[in-house]
Amino acid sequence: MAKRIMVFFLSVLIIFAGMAFFADEARITHTHQGNRQTNAENNEESAAKKKQATNKKLPSVSVKDWELMLVNKDNPAPDSSMELVELESGYKIDKRIKTAYDNLLQAALKSDIRLIVLSGYRSLQEQEAILATDTEDYMAQGYSESEAKKKALDYVATPGCSEHQTGLALDVLDDSWYQSGRGLETDFGKSKGGKWLAANCADYGFIIRYPEGKEAQTGIKYEPWHIRYVGVESARYIMANNLSLEEYIDQLKSR
Ligand SMILES: [Zn+2]
Repeated sequence: MAKRIMVFFLSVLIIFAGMAFFADEARITHTHQGNRQTNAENNEESAAKKKQATNKKLPSVSVKDWELMLVNKDNPAPDSSMELVELESGYKIDKRIKTAYDNLLQAALKSDIRLIVLSGYRSLQEQEAILATDTEDYMAQGYSESEAKKKALDYVATPGCSEHQTGLALDVLDDSWYQSGRGLETDFGKSKGGKWLAANCADYGFIIRYPEGKEAQTGIKYEPWHIRYVGVESARYIMANNLSLEEYIDQLKSR
């Protein structure tokens, strides 16, 4: 009898020990998961902090780099002989930015945004023709020739001073915006595609070249559709710090 009682107690003991062991296991596993979660959070946080810090640090690039070529009303486009490549749409861009542009398109597609090109490289003659057409349009609205030309120049750069002559700039829109009958309008900046473009273009080396509120420096009104290649590092810095290319180049020069 005593033996039976002992066997019973031993069994109970083993069961309790087993339960305690599994409970411990469960707790350990749980703690591990907890740790893993915290680690993931920490990694994400440190990556974000690192990115922020990188974006705050002026990149070690040179203003003489080809992708930082400054073209505006005071700096005419040089007679450079860049190698152009034709896009599917027929528009041409500098061959050196083709991959970056393709990657931008692919990334947009992943967010259900189909970017379409409305302009790429433009020769001096094409630029002159656009200015003439726009001026005529304003004259048709009743403006005098000089007033009409002045109005046209708000958006169209003086021939010779257009960034489109560099082959490093493109005018893009979201296809759904375009299909709904909209064009190169400032409201594009508030649309899904426009917002996506501003938020993501830097990761592919592009900037919104004519930001809102920077007209004094750029000489061109806000154009949420005009993107310009400057390289990933510069683009991230410019977009994160809300700069115009002119301000960025000033910062590089006064370093
Ligand atoms: Zn443009």
